[in-house]
Amino acid sequence: MLIKILDLPVLFCYLYRPMTTKHNKNQVIVGFIALGCPKNMVDSERMLAQIAQAGLLVTHDTAGADVIVINTCGFIAPAKAEAVAAIRRAIDKKRKGKVKKVIVAGCLPQREGVRLLKEIPGIDAIVGLEHRDVIASVITQSLTADKTVELLTPAFTRLYDDRTRLRITPRHWAYLRISEGCSRNCSFCTIPAIRGKFRSKPVNLVLAEAKELVESGAVELNIIAQDITSYGRDLGLKDALPALLAQLVKIVRLKWIRLLYLYPTGITNSLIETVAQSEKIVHYFDIPLQHINPEILKSMRRPHSKDNIRRLIETLRAKIPDCVLRTTFIVGFPGETDARFNEMLDFVKWASFDHLGCFTFYPEKGTLAARLQKQVPDRVEKQRLKQLMLTQQRIVFEKNKSRIGSRLTCLIDNIEKNHVAKARFFGQAPEIDSLCFIKNCSTTAGTFVKTKVIGCKDYDLICEKF
Ligand code: SF4
Repeated sequence: MLIKILDLPVLFCYLYRPMTTKHNKNQVIVGFIALGCPKNMVDSERMLAQIAQAGLLVTHDTAGADVIVINTCGFIAPAKAEAVAAIRRAIDKKRKGKVKKVIVAGCLPQREGVRLLKEIPGIDAIVGLEHRDVIASVITQSLTADKTVELLTPAFTRLYDDRTRLRITPRHWAYLRISEGCSRNCSFCTIPAIRGKFRSKPVNLVLAEAKELVESGAVELNIIAQDITSYGRDLGLKDALPALLAQLVKIVRLKWIRLLYLYPTGITNSLIETVAQSEKIVHYFDIPLQHINPEILKSMRRPHSKDNIRRLIETLRAKIPDCVLRTTFIVGFPGETDARFNEMLDFVKWASFDHLGCFTFYPEKGTLAARLQKQVPDRVEKQRLKQLMLTQQRIVFEKNKSRIGSRLTCLIDNIEKNHVAKARFFGQAPEIDSLCFIKNCSTTAGTFVKTKVIGCKDYDLICEKF
């Protein structure tokens, strides 16, 4: 039986095509491995553009590369393990003489600092988040230098300009990052320590980036940040997210705007009204809740309560009847008894989320939660994770059945064999959610088609054009 157990976008490895097939023999070839969440993917896209602009040849294929650059994630143990494995594979190639230099960038060196060089001997350069924009010169420097290049400073001040990217995502959709860092301080989370305090990008910069992405072919923008509901607070602005959205919807060729990572207590009436009244902002709310039991939430240092969330969900469904809800939970947080876990399970049944992702708890070094007593045994965590996801599976399968016969406008992502299109309706975010499969459809990626749902398979919907 198919169970979507984990929902770890952080563990995806995004690959892309080589820039060009032509190159001269003297041109340095850079094999780039992009790991991590959508925020890190934006950093990767920016680095790729800079490498290409510097005249280096960039490819996802590390075979034949002179230099391997790995843009890492390191916020929880599995992400770190994946990054370390990729680094070790690259160093192994270097030992065999197949590659000259190995450069590690992103969250892992930012978190681990120079310890990483001791932990994994053979790295030629470590590049922290603040130094993303000099990646091309680091590559050139490392090829001529005998010693390790170390570029590490606390990532607490920089405001990223993410314009000019070599996109990893398909042409028709992109991520638009509106802020950096987080000031929420959830007790389990390493992100504020890695990426610094919350700071918003100025409105004019966000708009310029959005226009650039749309001009390059994006019809769907997915708004991201660690917490998009805090947008503008540090700039002294009130209701800044709805105001920003009011500007974004004016971009003519932009058709879908999706809000990802909405902190539950940051969803205001004004935001709900803005989404309800807009034809471009899709009726999709991604609200990571992490837990629902009051003691656990207190221990997580998250200020919402079960009652506020219940009211929020009721309000969303009353004001936007077709709204699609996604959430994320953590199971096995210290102090999660059977009764507290069952409370979460009952809530999930009541809330009937359309999409649900789940992590098991990782006691991350440096976080308050790692020092809490009553850690839950691994075996129990895994059982709970399975139980939660099976409960959610039943909910999704029922919801899918109830969609049969309904009409959906879908955005084509790509065409598979036998003229079957992989597509999404507004309630399916790219990369993390299920899909619509449209039969007998050869329409180009990036176009919208009207469909009728004729069936479902596991988490996905089967549709036909009409
Ligand atoms: S809001 Fe998200 S990024 Fe910020 S501290 Fe909490 S879990 Fe981490």
